[in-house]
Amino acid sequence: MTMRVVECNICGEPLAAATDDELLGRLRAHVESEHSSAPLDEHQARETIAREAYDASDS
Ligand SMILES: [Zn+2]
Repeated sequence: MTMRVVECNICGEPLAAATDDELLGRLRAHVESEHSSAPLDEHQARETIAREAYDASDS
């Protein structure tokens, strides 16, 4: 199975999800809890995923 992965552009932590929409939620939740001083709006999160997300196999 292929996962979509994006690295947090603040701390570099890799976040993985089954779809880009789920990844968007994970990225926003991560930023909200870990980097509350640097919030990411939905538009910025979508751009980050469009630009930087990549496919990874979880096997
Ligand atoms: Zn982070």
